[in-house]
Amino acid sequence: MRCPALIVDRGKVTGNARAVAELCRSHGIDVWGVTKGLSGDPRLAEIYADAGFSGICDSRLRNLRKIADSGSPLPRQLMRIAMMSELKELAVTAETSLQSDIGTIKELDRICVSAGIRHKVLMMIDAGDLREGFWPTELPDAARELKDLEGGVKIVGVAANFACASGVLPTRDNMARLVECRDAISGITGREMPVVSVGGTCCLKMIEAGLAPEGVNVLRICEGVLLGTDTASDRVIPYLARDALTLTAEIVECRQKPSVPVGDVGYRAFGEKPVFTDRGLRKRAILAIGRQDVNIDRITPLDENVEIVTASSDHLIVDVTEAGATYRAGDTMSFRPLYPAMLACATSEYVEVIFE
Ligand SMILES: *Cc1c(COP(=O)(O)O)cnc(C)c1O
Repeated sequence: MRCPALIVDRGKVTGNARAVAELCRSHGIDVWGVTKGLSGDPRLAEIYADAGFSGICDSRLRNLRKIADSGSPLPRQLMRIAMMSELKELAVTAETSLQSDIGTIKELDRICVSAGIRHKVLMMIDAGDLREGFWPTELPDAARELKDLEGGVKIVGVAANFACASGVLPTRDNMARLVECRDAISGITGREMPVVSVGGTCCLKMIEAGLAPEGVNVLRICEGVLLGTDTASDRVIPYLARDALTLTAEIVECRQKPSVPVGDVGYRAFGEKPVFTDRGLRKRAILAIGRQDVNIDRITPLDENVEIVTASSDHLIVDVTEAGATYRAGDTMSFRPLYPAMLACATSEYVEVIFE
């Protein structure tokens, strides 16, 4: 096996995806699978299709292009509001997108008309999290401006994010307001707008409890399916597997050293001034993976007696003094990644992503 590797257990991710699809279906909600957690890996898109998801979402066109080229049967949605400079590419890469700028929507409309393409847009609404989205009071004016689109873009609904920029959680109230926003825009434009899409994983809790208001009919999800966790609500999702992803790296040195450095201590490579506690001689292993590849405070060693000490760009140092196993150079060590670590590993060109 190549190291470092992010190993994805296909069976476990599929099981999680099926469980989410089934739960949502029983509440009248379609699931769109978000692939950005694994950098738009087409193998993940394939799992989502097998599980019965209705579409693929990613924040990068490059990822959606990879998925389109792999022959994925599902419709694709660009989930990060588009850059003006990527609209031509958007029109030929994804069938739908989330948008929050009138000028961008009009330009996309113009591009689609001249290319003979029809593209669906969900208007992003800021439900209070203060990332992207129309502020609800702006909607009447926005809707009036969008009445004269020329047929390239069709506004098919609204969408909102929760717990992305400010940690604002979904509630029955803020979700119901989203449905009201849809009704208001639809009333002004005189067109049907069937879709009300919410994300991400934190919305699952509302759906489980049967608290998603009537009208909400799409969930966009990534974290829960891959990791079985809901970081925003600080919970594990009891009916999903939490061990589908494993990060494995190789040990390149293992030896006993003092726990306090020898010499005058300045700042270390990543800017902080470290403090040390004298714990006597400790056995330290160095792994060939570093901050270039992974967010080191967002991984947990599977061997619970291993302690992460520190890392530089290419080396991760762990204390193995209390570990039962005797580690040597050439051995591998495994970790469970949290969301930011998964994202970093999947993006690093030095980490192999293996589906098995
Ligand atoms: C990342 C993202 C999601 C998925 O969020 P998870 O919490 O990982 O499930 C949904 N919608 C948008 C717009 C996103 O950027």
